[in-house]
Amino acid sequence: MTGMTHSDFYSCRPWLAASALSLLALWGCGGSSSISSPAGSSSTLQPCLQRSASGTVVVGSSLPGDPAIPEPQSGYRLGLQPVSAESFMAVTANPLATQAGCAVLASGGSAVDAAVAVQAVLGLVEPQSSGLGGGAFMLTYNATTQAVQSYDGRETAPAAATEDYLRYVSATDRTNPLPNLGQSFLSTKASGRSIGTPGAVRMLELAHQDHGRKPWAELFQPGIKLASDGFPISGRMASAISGARNDLLRDPEAAAYFLNPDYTPKALGTAIRNPAYATTLGTIAQGGANAFYTGAIAQSIVDKIKSTSGGVTSTVAITPGLTELSDLANYRAVRRTPVCATYRTTWICGMGPPSSGGIAVAQTLGILENFDMAAVAPQVVNVEGGKPSVQGVHLVSEAERLAYADRNKYVADTDFVSLPGSGVAAMIDKNYLRSRAALISTTRSLGAAPAGTFASAAVLGSSSAEGRGTTHMSIVDKYGNVVVMTTTIESAMGSFHFTRGFLLNNQLTDFSFEPSDAAGPIANRIAPLKRPRSSMAPTLVFNRAADGTRGEFLMATGSPGGAAIIQFVVKTLVSAIDWKLNAQQATSMVNFGSANGPTTGVGGEHPSIDISNNGLNDPLLNGLRSLGHTVSFAAQSSGVSTIIRTPSANGSPAVLAGGADPRREGLALGDALP
Ligand code: GLU
Repeated sequence: MTGMTHSDFYSCRPWLAASALSLLALWGCGGSSSISSPAGSSSTLQPCLQRSASGTVVVGSSLPGDPAIPEPQSGYRLGLQPVSAESFMAVTANPLATQAGCAVLASGGSAVDAAVAVQAVLGLVEPQSSGLGGGAFMLTYNATTQAVQSYDGRETAPAAATEDYLRYVSATDRTNPLPNLGQSFLSTKASGRSIGTPGAVRMLELAHQDHGRKPWAELFQPGIKLASDGFPISGRMASAISGARNDLLRDPEAAAYFLNPDYTPKALGTAIRNPAYATTLGTIAQGGANAFYTGAIAQSIVDKIKSTSGGVTSTVAITPGLTELSDLANYRAVRRTPVCATYRTTWICGMGPPSSGGIAVAQTLGILENFDMAAVAPQVVNVEGGKPSVQGVHLVSEAERLAYADRNKYVADTDFVSLPGSGVAAMIDKNYLRSRAALISTTRSLGAAPAGTFASAAVLGSSSAEGRGTTHMSIVDKYGNVVVMTTTIESAMGSFHFTRGFLLNNQLTDFSFEPSDAAGPIANRIAPLKRPRSSMAPTLVFNRAADGTRGEFLMATGSPGGAAIIQFVVKTLVSAIDWKLNAQQATSMVNFGSANGPTTGVGGEHPSIDISNNGLNDPLLNGLRSLGHTVSFAAQSSGVSTIIRTPSANGSPAVLAGGADPRREGLALGDALP
């Protein structure tokens, strides 16, 4: 076979085409300090190698078995097994990013250190999903203090934004922003109006100040090297480029990077370098986040947001955004109180507003706690997770309907709009959730569930706006600290505006376009400096100690997927906690759920779902239909990254198991079990 052996690894043979990677020095060959075992050592497995039954291989080596060798984008990778590790692990949506994070962990870095390195690489190898021009939410667990902290790096609306900013060109020109792409969402997304002040870099710096062990500058080196030397375009990146080709053509800088000289999309496997990105990373490495939020990079961002036309093959008008240098200079990442609630034998902590993720996950689980979920476990369990039962899907979907109803009505940036009642505590109160659970029938779907009522709540309309184009990482370091971070430029390729090697987000389209509806003002309407409501749900799970307090760390997970993130995370948590599936099975498990309304989604990309004959041959889909669900079996593109920790018991050490979503190109890597 094919796999690289340990001694191959340490011989560090040249193995790459000149155009491909030269990451040997960084990742363990040619004098790295990060992987330090001597050549020839064979008594223990080395960290951060891709292992298979037949050998091990360096990720990024281009040798057979290397998961970073580009493959056409597939809807689902069959047969993934959980990856085990003894003390540290990184799971991200791209093998090269996982490798960078794992190398940081192997050389003694903290989970936050690894997250910085991962983000720097993801912005290069998965630019369609996240990057310097976007925003992020992070939860950290500090194993020494047992503290859980959440960090808000969400984009902000510019100070000059009005309530019509997303829907009208101006107070006098009440037409949609340009370019005219036929639908207002698409036009706004591709205009300067969708671009929020980026938050990811400031947030990473804040988290690094709190939890970093390695120098900030060092963490950018893998990204800088990869951007300078080049990397092969992956399946998902190639498909994102090809899907966005016409939009990228509006920005000459984007076209020059993502397209060939004849304006065809750069294809799968093409070696691509991004020297502008390497320079940007170098500037941030040396100058910290200030070098991004002020000075030449900030000026380039503002200039790009203010562009009024674009086009390589023909010129079109683009509505500029109103972002100023002061918006960037004044941007602050915020430490927020995480949303933590019990669920059966566990404590679950998530991200509070401006994300709706933590509250919606906690509400869904709090409702499900009133049902015996173990009794509706999948009847068939296999390496792909298995096939959930009709009642399992029904109950989870109904609980989600109720949670989304509250989310759509009440949750927004709480610096601007208060939550109802006493706030988070009222929304996740067990008695309140019991009353919501009482609305669920086991024989009939609610269809569209109503929002709950609270002692004091403003009269509000509802909004469900959301897009796609995000990525999630879960990381455990050897000190026991944990990071979960979901990071985004909103939808694929963001706003298509590109400068200094990175894309700018379209996150402001997560606001409601309309400031009100018939019921009243919408909580998630846009306002100056407000943060758009998110669904991102980076999640940490802990044991519930005998005295009821939060105990040992058990699980880290999260996903991209727009509003469906909440469903992807709930499915993974129920699979692991109630149905006892391992990290890979819980991650692979069929995606299912509802964002409220009559439709229940069951991911038709999963091998357990029979979509032949319009789904009429599948007993699960038919069972749901008989309960009144309108079933969609459209493919669902989650990107769950999960780590489950089995605590030490009877003298055996704790073990980490990682699962990467088979619907994307992710990878789990860690240190080896002895
Ligand atoms: N912008 C979305 C949010 O913040 C995420 C989009 C996605 O997951 O693709 O909730």
